[in-house]
Amino acid sequence: MNKNIDPKQQAVRDEVKAFAEKEIYPRSKELDQMPEPRKFPVDLYRKIGEAGFIGYAMPPEFGGKGKSHLEYITLVEELCYHDAAVGLLCAVGELATYPIIHFASDEQKKKFVPDCAAGKRIPAFVLTEPNAGSDAANQSTEAVETGNEYVINGEKIFIMHGDAADLGVLFCKIKDQPKLSAIIVEDTKQAGWQARTLKNKMGMRAATTGGIILKDVRAPKANLMGEIGKGFRYAMMTLDSARIGVAAQGVGIAQRALDESVAYAKKRIAFGAPIAKLQAIQWMIADMATRLEAARGLCYKAVLKQDKGEPFSLDAAMAKLYCSETANFCVDRAMQIHAGYGYIGEFSIIEKLYRDQRVLEIYEGTSEVQRLVIAGNVIGR
Ligand SMILES: Cc1cc2nc3c(=O)[nH]c(=O)nc-3n(C[C@H](O)[C@H](O)[C@H](O)COP(=O)(O)OP(=O)(O)OC[C@H]3O[C@@H](n4cnc5c(N)ncnc54)[C@H](O)[C@@H]3O)c2cc1C
Repeated sequence: MNKNIDPKQQAVRDEVKAFAEKEIYPRSKELDQMPEPRKFPVDLYRKIGEAGFIGYAMPPEFGGKGKSHLEYITLVEELCYHDAAVGLLCAVGELATYPIIHFASDEQKKKFVPDCAAGKRIPAFVLTEPNAGSDAANQSTEAVETGNEYVINGEKIFIMHGDAADLGVLFCKIKDQPKLSAIIVEDTKQAGWQARTLKNKMGMRAATTGGIILKDVRAPKANLMGEIGKGFRYAMMTLDSARIGVAAQGVGIAQRALDESVAYAKKRIAFGAPIAKLQAIQWMIADMATRLEAARGLCYKAVLKQDKGEPFSLDAAMAKLYCSETANFCVDRAMQIHAGYGYIGEFSIIEKLYRDQRVLEIYEGTSEVQRLVIAGNVIGR
């Protein structure tokens, strides 16, 4: 089946395949099985940056490759096909740089984006707090203006690359302001930025996740991003875009589950014939292929709207919801088809896919939150 709706997508798939053979497959297992405490793979992240993948859809004047969002989404899909955690490394670099590109001043863009796009600087999107997950506006972290600086106190959790980041796009309240603002923290080596790697993460292990305690963290007032009080809006607009990225992660994982299942079903013999001859197996494969086709369609529809400059918030929520649930469905069916050889990780990739896909229904807005967004659009608020 032809996956492409645009001929340019094939070049992306080929580019990622060549990268994966050289840089991903030789290390995939080692990155997944890394003992605790896990270390963020800085060298691989730099290679992803050098390949131009983080800045794929970013403007060339800020060091990006200037590709379309469709091409970027295809890139994430393909990286996740080969190794979802490596796809996530790339997607998080893009997610955390996105608000700077879209809401920061030209001066800030010139200062921060080129290094982020090149993978030389590791940015993090620092929104979630222990008591503010889905209810993201309910933040406790506070910045106080002192001279030319903000002094920030609070706590953040579940921050992708938060343990390794050397730049944080941080969302918090500024004292006496009721609404969230966004501040770029460029010095994460200061004593008050206390980051740690969260332990025992189920999947996506190569892309580590951090918790950060902020104790009198200082950032110049010049690093206020955009306008005071607009931080929540910037965060939600960033997540709208990133949700299409999560949808693409789901498409890549689901495609891998399907391809592995077809290949396995053709070679596994039971009762004297390949299990692919059994209707029970064929139906599972038919269901996987059909859902995957629908998922890819929703994902590409959302990103085409983004490329055309049309509103895409509803499409992104639908794509994220459906593609993540499709990844879950397809990997679960793949596990059933592989049976014992799926459940035990030494025999196939299915056990890793099972762990990697599960977070897609949680981060960047849970499935319940996507349903809220969709219902709000369909029914009206
Ligand atoms: C691996 C990982 C990486 C992450 N990366 C980042 C990152 O880089 N930056 C960042 O800022 N955050 C990040 N997050 C945080 C992520 O976005 C939150 O975990 C997510 O938004 C859910 O918040 P929560 O975990 O606090 O769950 P809660 O908000 O406490 O939700 C608990 C349950 O209640 C449900 N629920 C909550 N409110 C409603 C409602 N109104 N209606 C219906 N159901 C509801 C939820 O769907 C869920 O089932 C990451 C999380 C993980 C696990």
